[in-house]
Amino acid sequence: SLPTIFVITPTYARLVQKAELTRLSHTFLHVPQLHWIVVEDSPQKTPLVTDLLMKSGLTYTHLHVPTAKERKLQEGDPSWLKPRGVEQRNEGLRWLREDRRDGQQGVVYFADDDNTYSLQIFEEMRNTQRVSVWPVGLVGAMKFESPVVEGGKVVRFHTGWRPNRPFPMDMAGFAVSLKLVLTNPEACFDGEAPMGFLESSFLKGLVTMDELEPKADNCTKVLVWHTRTEKPKMKREEALQAQGLGSDP
Ligand code: UDP
Ligand code: MN
Repeated sequence: SLPTIFVITPTYARLVQKAELTRLSHTFLHVPQLHWIVVEDSPQKTPLVTDLLMKSGLTYTHLHVPTAKERKLQEGDPSWLKPRGVEQRNEGLRWLREDRRDGQQGVVYFADDDNTYSLQIFEEMRNTQRVSVWPVGLVGAMKFESPVVEGGKVVRFHTGWRPNRPFPMDMAGFAVSLKLVLTNPEACFDGEAPMGFLESSFLKGLVTMDELEPKADNCTKVLVWHTRTEKPKMKREEALQAQGLGSDP
């Protein structure tokens, strides 16, 4: 049977959340043998996400953990100031380790709720032995970032920033076998890692560069994009609200 793809998605309440999760769930409906692990950044599971998952038609696990207050980005902070979704990804890993599907063939992928995923990327990652890697589009102030492959091996990374990080890759650019996650129970994301080192903090205990498995035609195809959604303007909504005429009184 097909190896299961466990997709871990951190998500948080904001106006576009339902739209993001709708788009993402509709992508995942096209992927066979996918188990969606949705981790809400909240003190409780919310009705919006509970209901969306129930109606989604997907196999899923619904978790939640609030980001500690001192770690949370404040209104007006630049988005790069603190890493986002850290506790939530670690909670997804914790659940996988507790659930213990030893012997089951599977792969773990961290999919943020606002990115754009080609269906092909899931088939590329499905047979990951240890850690597979591929390019990510529209990230790092570049058209794409990518591992560079020579003779079938990753020899360096195409990135515009801190190339000497152990793994200068975006979260969307790699997947880890379930087996490796289960046999390394201490591997997790370090929210205190210096800027840009979050992915490295997880991967450095798991693989070396020459063990990376290049996918997407030796890392020559972009099959996932680090798209970001504009925050919707609410100026008129607020003006109407002030008169008691808001859309959702
Ligand atoms: N996220 C979260 N809590 C937050 C901010 C973000 O759980 O306070 C989630 C978000 O839904 C996404 C992931 O963490 O799935 C990465 O966040 P974002 O897309 O804002 O990061 P960026 O695109 O700026 O790297
Ligand atoms: Mn994002």
